[in-house]
Amino acid sequence: MKLDSAMSSRVNLLDYDRSSLEGLFAELDEKPFRARQIMQWIYQRGVTQFDQMTDLSKLLRVRLEAMAELRFPETISEQQSVDGTFKWLHSVPGGSAVETVFIPESDRGTLCVSSQVGCALNCTFCATARQGYNRNLTTGEIISQVWMAENRLKTGEDRVISNVVMMGMGEPLLNYDAVVPAMKLMLDDLSFGLSRRRVTLSTAGVVPGIDRLAKDCPVSLAVSLHAPNDELRTQIVPLNKKYNIECLLAACKRYVGTESKRRITFEYVMLKDVNDREEHAHQLAALLVELPSKVNLIPFNPSPGIPYECSSKNTINSFRDILLEAGINTVTRKTRGDDIDAACGQLAGSVLDRTKRSQRMKAGLS
Ligand code: SAH
Repeated sequence: MKLDSAMSSRVNLLDYDRSSLEGLFAELDEKPFRARQIMQWIYQRGVTQFDQMTDLSKLLRVRLEAMAELRFPETISEQQSVDGTFKWLHSVPGGSAVETVFIPESDRGTLCVSSQVGCALNCTFCATARQGYNRNLTTGEIISQVWMAENRLKTGEDRVISNVVMMGMGEPLLNYDAVVPAMKLMLDDLSFGLSRRRVTLSTAGVVPGIDRLAKDCPVSLAVSLHAPNDELRTQIVPLNKKYNIECLLAACKRYVGTESKRRITFEYVMLKDVNDREEHAHQLAALLVELPSKVNLIPFNPSPGIPYECSSKNTINSFRDILLEAGINTVTRKTRGDDIDAACGQLAGSVLDRTKRSQRMKAGLS
């Protein structure tokens, strides 16, 4: 395995999904099934040395050695919460680092994967936003997070990761061209083989990306709604200025399309005295009543410098009950890993910020 420290001119095979890997092999005058064999070595058997891929010809292994590699980010730290949640910090070229979280439950193991270094969307309650934005992750850097967690935690034959959520740092639909091939690898039977139900992309509401995703890779969709009217939503999710609630819900409707089983998960972070009043719950119910949906209420997780508090337990319960009475499937998300800052919205990684906005913010100018 090669760690990602120096620049390299070799191609990183982790950047390729099945069709592009077959394309690469065609350019090398190799048969497409060679690409499929390599995928199985890497993702199913966890083998990263070409000379151990014994069903490839000696010549091909030598050629691969010369022009290709498997380049993984370096793990800077690993923490484990008292509740069993793991958090890793991986360094990526450019001096920054991103976080990945694994949440074990009795019936599943969910990996929360980052898609960007930092985030440009500035949601006012989110720790990642505070870090500013640095760059998109590559397909290899995204799928590496899955490979590394699986191979770190696996003890026997059985897979450890049963679900992947693109809910770590970044806005996945603003890194579409790298995220989709990575998700295709998560789904591919020759690699991780997860079903579409078990791979979830969460978006703050990038409407054109939602429409593209429906055609290219229709995984489960989660939408960070967080407010039931435009005035409030624009305050806490500034992207709402560009794609308002009406236009976002219309895209969700198109995403569900005619698939009878598909439904959208709406995430709603509970912010005390901001978006948690009874009238907000009624407004939310009215918005969602005709859409096959499920609401995930997320207790706000605090981070230093973020000026919100979490709604009380009672408030969250009454909010949930109003939605349930309106016939909307609603659950309150259990907070996991907060003792190691691994809970929703606490992923800060380490971002060499390139945005002027946050330079100004640090200087107290905005
Ligand atoms: N950009 C994508 C992916 C991030 S997912 C998106 O917005 O959906 C992370 C989820 O955690 C989102 O629903 C986000 O709004 C939520 N979140 C962010 N900060 C949070 C916080 N401090 N407490 C609880 N949830 C938070």
